[in-house]
Amino acid sequence: MGRRTRLLLIGASAHRDALAGALPNCDVLVVEHALEGLWQSGRGRFERAFVSLGIGNKALRAVSSLRQVSPEMRIVVGCEPADEPLARRALDEGADEYILEPIKREDVEQAFGVARPRPLSTTEPASGPSLQEIIKLSDILQNLGDGALATLDRLATLLQQAFDAEGVVIQLDELSCTTGKANELVLEETIRRHDKPVGRVALARRAQGTYAANAAIRLTEYARLIEATIVQARERQRWRDLAWTDDLSGLHNRRYFEQTLDELIERASTKRLRLTVLLFDIDGFKNYNDSYGHEVGDKLIQEVALLLRRCTRERDIVVRYGGDEFAVVFWDAEKQRVPGSEHPHEPIELATRFCNAIAQHEFQCLGSDAPGPVTISGGLASFPWNGNTREQLISAADKALLKAKRTGKNQIHLAGKKDEESIPPNSKDPV
Ligand code: GH3
Ligand code: MG
Repeated sequence: MGRRTRLLLIGASAHRDALAGALPNCDVLVVEHALEGLWQSGRGRFERAFVSLGIGNKALRAVSSLRQVSPEMRIVVGCEPADEPLARRALDEGADEYILEPIKREDVEQAFGVARPRPLSTTEPASGPSLQEIIKLSDILQNLGDGALATLDRLATLLQQAFDAEGVVIQLDELSCTTGKANELVLEETIRRHDKPVGRVALARRAQGTYAANAAIRLTEYARLIEATIVQARERQRWRDLAWTDDLSGLHNRRYFEQTLDELIERASTKRLRLTVLLFDIDGFKNYNDSYGHEVGDKLIQEVALLLRRCTRERDIVVRYGGDEFAVVFWDAEKQRVPGSEHPHEPIELATRFCNAIAQHEFQCLGSDAPGPVTISGGLASFPWNGNTREQLISAADKALLKAKRTGKNQIHLAGKKDEESIPPNSKDPV
């Protein structure tokens, strides 16, 4: 027989049997009121106390007073499931553990440390994430590269399902997203970063029934998860931007071009986009390097990039392909594709306009004694006339570019099935 210990029960005597059954070597003294409990704890030595939050609003005070009087005492509180938030506060006041009423033997054993410890949260299955939530979250984590807003959107959908909420609102830093019906919000949690509020997550009513007592606690955990996930998404986006950017020109690079072209070709096949690839190369660029030096050559590349960005539309994909070579993907929602019809005209016009803009531009880096206009040669290839794949389109545009070079430079050639067609730049066109 082990040494007998004493337990002070502050609460209804109905709990006595469950406590005594779970702790056979323990004598239980029952008091129904907080003040009486404190008085008893001052009189005799108790190793353990059980405080039922059902005794009313003095219960929390009783817990903190017991803790002050007996720092070594094992204090466990009990509460109805609906009072779980109150039980969490009791932990802040000094309680060691809480269990739900009606109290169960194994919970008592565990809370008083006489059984093999296991996380109490397993007694409340609803408090942990479901397998479905974990799978969804892992999907979200795998696709962080899609950016912070897309990630936030997916998190909102995850929360809506996890809480069975009619709607969810998440605001974080400058981002904001709403899913479902979210005009009347009933549960809200602040999102913090290093303890500073940086946003909020709020739930509309539950689609069916009301929220469980632990919903607020779960939402606090999700608020943390949202913050941490968005930080990661931003970081991933930053690395991806770096990997896709050309340092010298600030334009996107060839890697980005190839990936985006693949995506656009796929969309063009299913959603009927119109897309045209332009490859162009500065004429006689080596001479600028030789006459002015490599640094000026670099500046020339930068100025060409700036002009290119100005002459194209926001949605066009503009990249430095490598060296003095650039590429543009012009794309549009297709109006109507007529079999055997001609190349789309808009890209031809844009390419010609750009050719003229370069020829007319006074390049600051070359100064006033520039040897003559800077010119470019280019090749245009359109989906599906000149190819259905990235390789076919690039190869067709490249062949047209070579032809433009061989036949005198300073011109844009259209790729053609038989022979390429040349468009000489019209230097009188307005830029
Ligand atoms: P073409 O008219 O046939 O295009 O002749 P080109 O002189 O422009 O010759 P080409 O396009 O074949 O050569 C491009 C040169 O650009 C070769 C290389 O030394 C130079 N180059 C490549 N990358 C850079 C760069 O980042 N900065 C500078 N300044 N020069 C570069
Ligand atoms: Mg060149």
